[in-house]
Amino acid sequence: MQPQTYTTACGKTVLIQRKLFLKKLTLRFSKKQKAFVVSAPSLLSFSKVTNFIDSAHAWFAKMEAHQPKALRIIAPGDSISVLGNIVRVDFIQSPKSMVVLKDAVLEVHGIQSKFGQTLSKYLKDLASQKFSQYSHEYAAVLGVKINQIVIKDMKTRFGSCSSFGNLNYCWRVVLAPEPVLAYLCAHEVSHLKEMNHSKKFWTHVERLCPDYKNLQKWLKQHSKELFMHF
Ligand SMILES: [Zn+2]
Repeated sequence: MQPQTYTTACGKTVLIQRKLFLKKLTLRFSKKQKAFVVSAPSLLSFSKVTNFIDSAHAWFAKMEAHQPKALRIIAPGDSISVLGNIVRVDFIQSPKSMVVLKDAVLEVHGIQSKFGQTLSKYLKDLASQKFSQYSHEYAAVLGVKINQIVIKDMKTRFGSCSSFGNLNYCWRVVLAPEPVLAYLCAHEVSHLKEMNHSKKFWTHVERLCPDYKNLQKWLKQHSKELFMHF
């Protein structure tokens, strides 16, 4: 069977979709698949498809230039911040998907077309573990009860809470320094005491997180950097 993906010399991985009645090749970025996709006539040879992808240098450069920093696509060899530590992300071909942190290298094992998926799953799990740890710790200090913690990919905010004791967090905050993540937990857990942003609310936040003002500022200034594609 023909390969389903191709990686260019500049490190762009492109998914190859074969279509029976297609007349010409097209290259696009699929938001749904979060990947570059080439549609190719099913009978066209693999080398013709890869020649076409290789000739699209200018197109890739243009795509990159038009992508806000926020939509950076993480590729093997890139560096990212995890809880404030800068790590290089490496890809290791393997039949088993897993992520291993070795010194300052995050090794993503698996198949190349699942690279982004494997990496983001690892980050979501880590986010879930950290949000849960801090939220329960702070809830114990304030004497409030958490009903449920849900980790989501929220687009406009990083956390929210309901009067039923449900806390929602955006997993991308795991890309911020750890004290920022802890601040967010202090903020949402304090809402279980005060469902508003009154003076009283901020006294709870300050009790849990004395440096909250600086951390809140960091989150405001850097929020766009947390939104990147995987
Ligand atoms: Zn709030």
